[in-house]
Amino acid sequence: MSSKSLKIAALAGDGIGPEVMREALKVLRATATKSGFTVAITEAPVGWAGIDAAGKALPDATLQLCRESDSILFGSVGLPDRDPTVPKEERPERAALLRIRKEFGLFANLRPVQLPKALSHACPLRPERQGDGLDLLVVRELTGGMYFGQPKKTEAITLPTGPAQRAIDTMVYTTPEIERIAHVAFQAAKLRRRKLTSIDKANVLENGILWRETVTRIAKEYPEVALEHMFVDNAAMQLMLKPTQFDVVLCENMFGDILSDEAAALAGSLGMLPSASLGATSSGQTFGFYEPAGGTAPDIAGKDLANPIAQILSVALMLRYSFGLEDAAKRIEQAVGKVITNGLRTGDIYSSTDPSARRVGTREMGDAIIAAL
Ligand code: NAD
Repeated sequence: MSSKSLKIAALAGDGIGPEVMREALKVLRATATKSGFTVAITEAPVGWAGIDAAGKALPDATLQLCRESDSILFGSVGLPDRDPTVPKEERPERAALLRIRKEFGLFANLRPVQLPKALSHACPLRPERQGDGLDLLVVRELTGGMYFGQPKKTEAITLPTGPAQRAIDTMVYTTPEIERIAHVAFQAAKLRRRKLTSIDKANVLENGILWRETVTRIAKEYPEVALEHMFVDNAAMQLMLKPTQFDVVLCENMFGDILSDEAAALAGSLGMLPSASLGATSSGQTFGFYEPAGGTAPDIAGKDLANPIAQILSVALMLRYSFGLEDAAKRIEQAVGKVITNGLRTGDIYSSTDPSARRVGTREMGDAIIAAL
Protein backbone atom coordinates (compact mmCIF):
# COMPACT_ATOMS: atom_id res chain seq x y z
CA MET A 1 0.00 0.00 0.00
CA SER A 2 1.38 3.42 -0.90
CA SER A 3 1.67 6.24 1.62
CA LYS A 4 -1.21 8.05 -0.02
CA SER A 5 -4.14 8.95 2.21
CA LEU A 6 -7.14 6.62 2.03
CA LYS A 7 -10.19 8.67 1.05
CA ILE A 8 -13.18 7.40 3.00
CA ALA A 9 -16.76 8.62 2.72
CA ALA A 10 -18.47 8.02 6.08
CA LEU A 11 -22.26 7.96 5.79
CA ALA A 12 -23.74 7.28 9.22
CA GLY A 13 -27.42 7.44 8.25
CA ASP A 14 -30.27 7.04 10.72
CA GLY A 15 -31.18 5.46 14.07
CA ILE A 16 -28.13 3.91 15.71
CA GLY A 17 -26.04 4.77 12.61
CA PRO A 18 -24.44 7.96 14.02
CA GLU A 19 -23.52 6.45 17.41
CA VAL A 20 -21.94 3.27 16.02
CA MET A 21 -20.23 5.24 13.22
CA ARG A 22 -18.71 7.59 15.82
CA GLU A 23 -17.04 4.60 17.53
CA ALA A 24 -15.94 3.05 14.22
CA LEU A 25 -14.27 6.27 13.08
CA LYS A 26 -12.47 6.55 16.43
CA VAL A 27 -11.17 3.00 15.88
CA LEU A 28 -10.21 3.75 12.26
CA ARG A 29 -8.20 6.83 13.25
CA ALA A 30 -6.47 5.01 16.12
CA THR A 31 -5.62 2.08 13.84
CA ALA A 32 -4.20 4.42 11.19
CA THR A 33 -1.90 5.97 13.78
CA LYS A 34 -0.77 2.59 15.12
CA SER A 35 -0.38 0.89 11.73
CA GLY A 36 1.21 3.86 9.99
CA PHE A 37 -1.23 4.82 7.25
CA THR A 38 -3.23 8.01 6.78
CA VAL A 39 -6.94 8.45 6.25
CA ALA A 40 -8.99 11.37 4.98
CA ILE A 41 -12.51 10.86 6.29
CA THR A 42 -15.42 12.99 5.08
CA GLU A 43 -18.82 12.56 6.68
CA ALA A 44 -22.06 13.19 4.79
CA PRO A 45 -25.78 12.68 5.37
CA VAL A 46 -27.74 9.78 3.89
CA GLY A 47 -31.16 8.26 4.52
CA TRP A 48 -33.62 10.35 6.51
CA ALA A 49 -30.65 12.46 7.54
CA GLY A 50 -30.19 13.17 3.81
CA ILE A 51 -33.87 13.97 3.35
CA ASP A 52 -33.73 16.37 6.30
CA ALA A 53 -30.51 18.02 5.14
CA ALA A 54 -31.05 18.20 1.38
CA GLY A 55 -34.49 16.80 0.53
CA LYS A 56 -33.18 13.46 -0.80
CA ALA A 57 -32.17 10.13 0.78
CA LEU A 58 -28.98 10.27 -1.30
CA PRO A 59 -28.20 13.97 -1.67
CA ASP A 60 -26.24 14.94 -4.79
CA ALA A 61 -23.31 16.15 -2.67
CA THR A 62 -23.19 12.82 -0.81
CA LEU A 63 -23.17 10.87 -4.07
CA GLN A 64 -20.46 13.13 -5.45
CA LEU A 65 -18.38 12.57 -2.29
CA CYS A 66 -18.74 8.79 -2.75
CA ARG A 67 -17.55 9.07 -6.36
CA GLU A 68 -14.48 10.96 -5.20
CA SER A 69 -13.71 8.48 -2.41
CA ASP A 70 -11.81 5.18 -2.41
CA SER A 71 -14.46 3.46 -0.30
CA ILE A 72 -17.71 4.02 1.55
CA LEU A 73 -18.18 3.27 5.23
CA PHE A 74 -21.93 3.14 5.72
CA GLY A 75 -24.09 3.01 8.86
CA SER A 76 -27.69 2.14 8.08
CA VAL A 77 -30.78 3.90 6.80
CA GLY A 78 -34.52 3.74 7.33
CA LEU A 79 -37.00 4.81 9.99
CA PRO A 80 -40.24 2.84 9.65
CA ASP A 81 -42.26 5.51 11.51
CA ARG A 82 -41.43 8.09 8.87
CA ASP A 83 -42.02 5.81 5.86
CA PRO A 84 -45.66 6.89 5.28
CA THR A 85 -44.51 10.48 4.75
CA VAL A 86 -42.82 9.87 1.37
CA PRO A 87 -43.55 7.69 -1.71
CA LYS A 88 -41.94 4.22 -1.71
CA GLU A 89 -39.34 5.03 -4.34
CA GLU A 90 -38.05 7.99 -2.30
CA ARG A 91 -37.56 5.98 0.89
CA PRO A 92 -33.95 5.57 2.01
CA GLU A 93 -33.69 1.79 1.49
CA ARG A 94 -34.47 2.19 -2.21
CA ALA A 95 -33.36 5.71 -3.00
CA ALA A 96 -30.04 5.45 -1.18
CA LEU A 97 -28.99 1.82 -0.75
CA LEU A 98 -30.10 0.36 -4.10
CA ARG A 99 -28.91 3.46 -5.89
CA ILE A 100 -25.42 3.17 -4.40
CA ARG A 101 -25.23 -0.56 -5.25
CA LYS A 102 -26.10 0.19 -8.85
CA GLU A 103 -23.99 3.31 -9.20
CA PHE A 104 -20.83 1.55 -8.01
CA GLY A 105 -21.43 -1.86 -9.61
CA LEU A 106 -21.21 -3.68 -6.29
CA PHE A 107 -21.38 -7.30 -7.44
CA ALA A 108 -19.86 -9.18 -4.51
CA ASN A 109 -21.32 -9.30 -1.03
CA LEU A 110 -19.12 -10.68 1.74
CA ARG A 111 -20.67 -11.61 5.07
CA PRO A 112 -18.28 -13.01 7.66
CA VAL A 113 -19.90 -14.82 10.57
CA GLN A 114 -17.85 -15.19 13.69
CA LEU A 115 -18.91 -16.59 17.00
CA PRO A 116 -16.15 -16.30 19.59
CA LYS A 117 -16.19 -19.13 22.13
CA ALA A 118 -16.95 -16.59 24.86
CA LEU A 119 -20.32 -15.86 23.18
CA SER A 120 -21.33 -19.49 22.92
CA HIS A 121 -24.57 -18.71 24.80
CA ALA A 122 -25.72 -16.35 22.00
CA CYS A 123 -25.69 -19.15 19.39
CA PRO A 124 -28.85 -21.18 18.86
CA LEU A 125 -26.81 -24.38 18.35
CA ARG A 126 -25.71 -26.64 21.18
CA PRO A 127 -22.11 -25.94 22.34
CA GLU A 128 -20.82 -29.28 20.99
CA ARG A 129 -21.76 -28.17 17.46
CA GLN A 130 -19.81 -24.90 17.82
CA GLY A 131 -16.29 -26.35 18.10
CA ASP A 132 -13.83 -23.70 19.29
CA GLY A 133 -16.13 -20.99 17.98
CA LEU A 134 -17.44 -20.35 14.47
CA ASP A 135 -15.67 -18.48 11.71
CA LEU A 136 -16.98 -18.60 8.16
CA LEU A 137 -17.44 -16.20 5.27
CA VAL A 138 -20.36 -16.18 2.86
CA VAL A 139 -19.53 -14.68 -0.56
CA ARG A 140 -22.74 -13.85 -2.43
CA GLU A 141 -23.10 -12.75 -6.04
CA LEU A 142 -25.19 -9.58 -5.85
CA THR A 143 -26.21 -8.39 -9.30
CA GLY A 144 -27.27 -11.46 -11.30
CA GLY A 145 -29.45 -14.54 -11.07
CA MET A 146 -33.16 -14.75 -10.42
CA TYR A 147 -33.54 -11.30 -8.84
CA PHE A 148 -32.60 -9.49 -12.06
CA GLY A 149 -33.05 -11.97 -14.95
CA GLN A 150 -35.51 -11.13 -17.74
CA PRO A 151 -38.31 -11.87 -18.47
CA LYS A 152 -39.73 -11.05 -15.07
CA LYS A 153 -43.45 -10.51 -15.04
CA THR A 154 -46.91 -11.64 -13.98
CA GLU A 155 -49.35 -12.23 -16.82
CA ALA A 156 -52.92 -13.33 -17.40
CA ILE A 157 -53.28 -16.71 -19.11
CA THR A 158 -56.01 -19.16 -19.91
CA LEU A 159 -55.71 -22.70 -18.58
CA PRO A 160 -58.04 -25.59 -19.53
CA THR A 161 -59.66 -24.94 -16.14
CA GLY A 162 -60.22 -21.24 -16.91
CA PRO A 163 -58.43 -17.90 -16.51
CA ALA A 164 -55.40 -17.76 -14.22
CA GLN A 165 -52.26 -15.77 -13.65
CA ARG A 166 -48.70 -16.83 -14.30
CA ALA A 167 -45.61 -15.35 -12.63
CA ILE A 168 -42.24 -15.66 -14.35
CA ASP A 169 -38.80 -15.07 -12.90
CA THR A 170 -35.72 -15.98 -14.87
CA MET A 171 -32.44 -17.26 -13.52
CA VAL A 172 -29.60 -16.12 -15.75
CA TYR A 173 -25.84 -16.19 -15.32
CA THR A 174 -23.09 -15.66 -17.85
CA THR A 175 -19.60 -17.11 -17.45
CA PRO A 176 -17.94 -13.69 -16.84
CA GLU A 177 -20.37 -13.03 -13.97
CA ILE A 178 -19.52 -16.38 -12.37
CA GLU A 179 -15.81 -15.96 -13.02
CA ARG A 180 -15.51 -12.58 -11.32
CA ILE A 181 -17.36 -13.64 -8.14
CA ALA A 182 -15.36 -16.89 -8.07
CA HIS A 183 -12.13 -14.87 -8.13
CA VAL A 184 -13.35 -12.79 -5.17
CA ALA A 185 -14.15 -15.96 -3.22
CA PHE A 186 -10.86 -17.71 -4.01
CA GLN A 187 -8.89 -14.60 -3.10
CA ALA A 188 -10.79 -14.31 0.18
CA ALA A 189 -10.09 -18.00 0.87
CA LYS A 190 -6.37 -17.40 0.31
CA LEU A 191 -6.45 -14.90 3.20
CA ARG A 192 -8.26 -17.40 5.43
CA ARG A 193 -8.11 -21.19 5.92
CA ARG A 194 -7.96 -21.90 2.16
CA LYS A 195 -11.09 -23.91 1.78
CA LEU A 196 -13.90 -22.95 -0.57
CA THR A 197 -17.33 -24.55 -0.68
CA SER A 198 -19.19 -23.61 -3.86
CA ILE A 199 -22.96 -23.88 -3.59
CA ASP A 200 -25.24 -24.79 -6.50
CA LYS A 201 -28.14 -26.91 -7.59
CA ALA A 202 -26.32 -28.63 -10.47
CA ASN A 203 -28.56 -31.68 -10.18
CA VAL A 204 -31.60 -29.65 -11.33
CA LEU A 205 -30.62 -26.27 -12.78
CA GLU A 206 -28.75 -25.42 -15.99
CA ASN A 207 -27.39 -22.46 -14.04
CA GLY A 208 -26.05 -24.88 -11.46
CA ILE A 209 -24.15 -26.87 -14.10
CA LEU A 210 -22.56 -23.75 -15.59
CA TRP A 211 -21.77 -22.46 -12.09
CA ARG A 212 -20.02 -25.70 -11.11
CA GLU A 213 -18.06 -25.98 -14.38
CA THR A 214 -16.93 -22.36 -14.23
CA VAL A 215 -15.88 -22.42 -10.56
CA THR A 216 -13.98 -25.68 -11.17
CA ARG A 217 -12.12 -24.05 -14.08
CA ILE A 218 -11.23 -20.92 -12.04
CA ALA A 219 -10.01 -23.16 -9.20
CA LYS A 220 -7.02 -24.16 -11.37
CA GLU A 221 -5.67 -20.64 -10.83
CA TYR A 222 -5.76 -21.16 -7.05
CA PRO A 223 -4.05 -24.50 -6.39
CA GLU A 224 -3.51 -23.54 -2.73
CA VAL A 225 -7.28 -23.40 -2.10
CA ALA A 226 -9.22 -26.67 -1.61
CA LEU A 227 -12.50 -26.53 -3.54
CA GLU A 228 -15.59 -28.60 -2.79
CA HIS A 229 -19.07 -28.39 -4.30
CA MET A 230 -22.27 -28.73 -2.32
CA PHE A 231 -25.95 -28.68 -3.28
CA VAL A 232 -27.78 -25.77 -1.70
CA ASP A 233 -30.28 -27.92 0.18
CA ASN A 234 -27.48 -29.91 1.78
CA ALA A 235 -25.61 -26.68 2.57
CA ALA A 236 -28.65 -25.34 4.47
CA MET A 237 -28.62 -28.52 6.54
CA GLN A 238 -24.84 -28.67 7.04
CA LEU A 239 -24.80 -25.08 8.35
CA MET A 240 -26.95 -26.26 11.24
CA LEU A 241 -25.35 -29.69 11.71
CA LYS A 242 -21.65 -28.90 11.35
CA PRO A 243 -20.93 -25.21 10.69
CA THR A 244 -17.28 -25.67 11.65
CA GLN A 245 -16.64 -27.49 8.34
CA PHE A 246 -17.00 -24.22 6.37
CA ASP A 247 -14.41 -21.58 5.62
CA VAL A 248 -15.55 -19.61 2.53
CA VAL A 249 -19.00 -20.37 1.10
CA LEU A 250 -19.59 -19.14 -2.47
CA CYS A 251 -23.19 -18.66 -3.65
CA GLU A 252 -25.20 -17.15 -6.47
CA ASN A 253 -27.52 -14.30 -5.52
CA MET A 254 -30.67 -16.00 -4.20
CA PHE A 255 -28.93 -18.94 -2.54
CA GLY A 256 -26.54 -16.45 -0.91
CA ASP A 257 -29.41 -14.27 0.27
CA ILE A 258 -30.91 -17.21 2.13
CA LEU A 259 -27.75 -18.96 3.35
CA SER A 260 -26.10 -15.73 4.57
CA ASP A 261 -29.09 -15.02 6.83
CA GLU A 262 -29.09 -18.59 8.06
CA ALA A 263 -25.38 -18.33 8.81
CA ALA A 264 -25.90 -14.93 10.49
CA ALA A 265 -28.33 -16.50 12.96
CA LEU A 266 -25.41 -18.59 14.24
CA ALA A 267 -23.66 -15.47 15.55
CA GLY A 268 -26.54 -14.64 17.87
CA SER A 269 -26.70 -10.88 17.31
CA LEU A 270 -26.89 -8.57 14.32
CA GLY A 271 -24.76 -6.19 16.35
CA MET A 272 -21.69 -8.39 15.75
CA LEU A 273 -21.93 -8.83 11.97
CA PRO A 274 -20.16 -6.63 9.42
CA SER A 275 -20.52 -6.88 5.66
CA ALA A 276 -18.70 -5.78 2.54
CA SER A 277 -20.00 -5.16 -0.95
CA LEU A 278 -17.26 -4.97 -3.53
CA GLY A 279 -17.09 -3.43 -6.98
CA ALA A 280 -14.35 -3.41 -9.55
CA THR A 281 -10.63 -3.37 -8.78
CA SER A 282 -8.26 -0.93 -10.44
CA SER A 283 -4.56 -0.32 -9.68
CA GLY A 284 -4.72 -2.75 -6.77
CA GLN A 285 -7.57 -0.92 -5.02
CA THR A 286 -11.10 -2.30 -4.85
CA PHE A 287 -14.02 0.05 -4.46
CA GLY A 288 -16.08 -1.20 -1.56
CA PHE A 289 -19.14 -0.41 0.50
CA TYR A 290 -18.90 -1.52 4.13
CA GLU A 291 -21.81 -1.68 6.55
CA PRO A 292 -23.20 -3.58 9.52
CA ALA A 293 -25.56 -6.45 8.63
CA GLY A 294 -28.28 -4.97 10.85
CA GLY A 295 -30.46 -1.94 10.34
CA THR A 296 -31.11 1.31 12.20
CA ALA A 297 -32.50 -0.40 15.35
CA PRO A 298 -34.93 2.45 16.17
CA ASP A 299 -35.89 0.63 19.39
CA ILE A 300 -32.50 1.37 20.96
CA ALA A 301 -31.29 4.42 19.00
CA GLY A 302 -29.79 7.35 20.88
CA LYS A 303 -29.60 5.46 24.21
CA ASP A 304 -25.96 4.32 24.18
CA LEU A 305 -27.22 0.72 23.95
CA ALA A 306 -26.21 -0.26 20.41
CA ASN A 307 -23.38 -2.68 19.84
CA PRO A 308 -20.75 -0.83 17.75
CA ILE A 309 -18.81 -4.02 16.89
CA ALA A 310 -20.53 -4.69 13.53
CA GLN A 311 -19.61 -1.18 12.40
CA ILE A 312 -16.07 -1.48 13.78
CA LEU A 313 -15.53 -4.85 12.07
CA SER A 314 -16.77 -3.22 8.85
CA VAL A 315 -13.74 -0.94 9.11
CA ALA A 316 -11.52 -4.05 9.35
CA LEU A 317 -13.14 -5.47 6.21
CA MET A 318 -12.56 -2.19 4.41
CA LEU A 319 -8.86 -2.17 5.28
CA ARG A 320 -8.55 -5.80 4.14
CA TYR A 321 -10.57 -5.89 0.94
CA SER A 322 -10.24 -2.35 -0.41
CA PHE A 323 -6.75 -1.46 0.68
CA GLY A 324 -4.92 -4.75 1.26
CA LEU A 325 -4.02 -3.67 4.82
CA GLU A 326 -4.30 -7.17 6.26
CA ASP A 327 -2.24 -6.48 9.41
CA ALA A 328 -4.31 -3.43 10.30
CA ALA A 329 -7.54 -5.40 9.69
CA LYS A 330 -6.31 -8.19 11.97
CA ARG A 331 -5.29 -5.67 14.62
CA ILE A 332 -8.92 -4.47 14.84
CA GLU A 333 -10.35 -7.99 14.81
CA GLN A 334 -7.97 -9.10 17.54
CA ALA A 335 -8.83 -6.05 19.66
CA VAL A 336 -12.53 -6.92 19.35
CA GLY A 337 -11.73 -10.53 20.28
CA LYS A 338 -9.82 -9.32 23.33
CA VAL A 339 -12.62 -7.16 24.77
CA ILE A 340 -15.09 -10.01 24.24
CA THR A 341 -12.76 -12.44 26.01
CA ASN A 342 -12.40 -9.86 28.80
CA GLY A 343 -16.16 -10.00 29.33
CA LEU A 344 -17.37 -6.65 27.97
CA ARG A 345 -20.90 -6.94 26.60
CA THR A 346 -23.46 -4.58 25.12
CA GLY A 347 -27.04 -5.57 25.91
CA ASP A 348 -27.57 -7.66 22.76
CA ILE A 349 -24.77 -10.12 23.69
CA TYR A 350 -25.08 -9.93 27.47
CA SER A 351 -26.09 -12.94 29.52
CA SER A 352 -26.79 -12.58 33.23
CA THR A 353 -25.74 -16.21 33.71
CA ASP A 354 -22.16 -15.44 32.67
CA PRO A 355 -20.37 -14.32 35.86
CA SER A 356 -17.44 -12.79 33.94
CA ALA A 357 -19.66 -10.57 31.76
CA ARG A 358 -19.86 -6.82 32.35
CA ARG A 359 -22.55 -4.79 30.62
CA VAL A 360 -21.34 -1.64 28.86
CA GLY A 361 -22.71 1.01 26.51
CA THR A 362 -21.81 1.86 22.92
CA ARG A 363 -19.18 4.43 23.85
CA GLU A 364 -17.45 2.32 26.50
CA MET A 365 -17.28 -0.65 24.11
CA GLY A 366 -15.64 1.57 21.45
CA ASP A 367 -13.14 2.98 23.98
CA ALA A 368 -12.24 -0.52 25.21
CA ILE A 369 -11.58 -1.70 21.66
CA ILE A 370 -9.29 1.27 21.05
CA ALA A 371 -7.45 0.52 24.29
CA ALA A 372 -7.02 -3.09 23.12
CA LEU A 373 -5.65 -2.16 19.66
P1 NAD B 1 -32.77 -3.88 12.68
O1 NAD B 1 -31.60 -4.66 12.24
O2 NAD B 1 -32.63 -2.40 12.71
O3 NAD B 1 -33.18 -4.37 14.15
C1 NAD B 1 -33.53 -5.72 14.45
C2 NAD B 1 -33.21 -6.02 15.92
O4 NAD B 1 -31.79 -6.14 16.06
C3 NAD B 1 -33.66 -4.91 16.87
O5 NAD B 1 -34.12 -5.48 18.08
C4 NAD B 1 -32.39 -4.12 17.11
O6 NAD B 1 -32.38 -3.46 18.36
C5 NAD B 1 -31.32 -5.21 17.02
N1 NAD B 1 -30.04 -4.65 16.56
C6 NAD B 1 -29.68 -4.35 15.29
N2 NAD B 1 -28.45 -3.83 15.26
C7 NAD B 1 -28.03 -3.80 16.55
C8 NAD B 1 -26.83 -3.36 17.19
N3 NAD B 1 -25.81 -2.83 16.49
N4 NAD B 1 -26.73 -3.48 18.53
C9 NAD B 1 -27.72 -4.02 19.25
N5 NAD B 1 -28.88 -4.46 18.71
C10 NAD B 1 -29.03 -4.34 17.38
O7 NAD B 1 -34.00 -4.31 11.76
P2 NAD B 1 -35.47 -3.71 11.64
O8 NAD B 1 -35.99 -3.31 12.97
O9 NAD B 1 -36.20 -4.70 10.85
O10 NAD B 1 -35.31 -2.42 10.73
C11 NAD B 1 -35.24 -1.07 11.24
C12 NAD B 1 -34.98 -0.14 10.06
O11 NAD B 1 -33.68 -0.40 9.53
C13 NAD B 1 -35.96 -0.31 8.90
O12 NAD B 1 -36.28 0.96 8.39
C14 NAD B 1 -35.19 -1.13 7.89
O13 NAD B 1 -35.61 -0.92 6.57
C15 NAD B 1 -33.80 -0.59 8.10
N6 NAD B 1 -32.72 -1.47 7.65
C16 NAD B 1 -31.69 -0.88 7.03
C17 NAD B 1 -30.62 -1.65 6.61
C18 NAD B 1 -29.49 -0.96 5.93
O14 NAD B 1 -29.36 0.24 6.00
N7 NAD B 1 -28.61 -1.70 5.26
C19 NAD B 1 -30.60 -3.02 6.85
C20 NAD B 1 -31.66 -3.60 7.54
C21 NAD B 1 -32.73 -2.81 7.94
